[in-house]
Amino acid sequence: MARLPGIGKKTALRLVLHLVKENESRTTALTAALQNLRRNIRFCKTCFNICDDEECSICKSHRRDRSVICVVEESKDVMAIENTSQYSGVYHVLGGIISPVNGIGPEELKIDSLIQRVRMPGAEVKEIILALSPTMEGDTTAFYIHRKLKDLSIKVTSIARGVPVGGELEYADEVTLGRSIIGRTLVS
Ligand code: ZN
Repeated sequence: MARLPGIGKKTALRLVLHLVKENESRTTALTAALQNLRRNIRFCKTCFNICDDEECSICKSHRRDRSVICVVEESKDVMAIENTSQYSGVYHVLGGIISPVNGIGPEELKIDSLIQRVRMPGAEVKEIILALSPTMEGDTTAFYIHRKLKDLSIKVTSIARGVPVGGELEYADEVTLGRSIIGRTLVS
């Protein structure tokens, strides 16, 4: 329990004590849910968002604009942007960010798949929105992707920095994040 993100030893102990006191049927249901999570949750073959099918519900939807792809670090960023209701395009989840300090290079991320996806005949992608953290790693990743897309005639934009510096997307409030998507700027 204590190994879970954001849960210290004290909280872990509180959770365990709570589970011990809980009705057995509830803990059994939780166990089944966790097993189910391991077995059925996978990554969308198109955008790498977490889902329980080959493709996620966003990629499958006919209402989404496939000519705009929003590039994010993690699935939680997809959820944060979806909560703003300001975006109708599709996504591409990188699975992290370029971070030489942590030994994460571009080949560890889904950057090549993004380029392939954009280059695919009939893809007709018009815009790539980079919605990465406003940190040095985020900037490095944005720069790398921008360079890779340079010879393609695709508009590359970045979400406006209404998002506080150093603040992650997940913590930006919905209004701020929604505005920053609308007020995105061209990456030059
Ligand atoms: Zn998808």
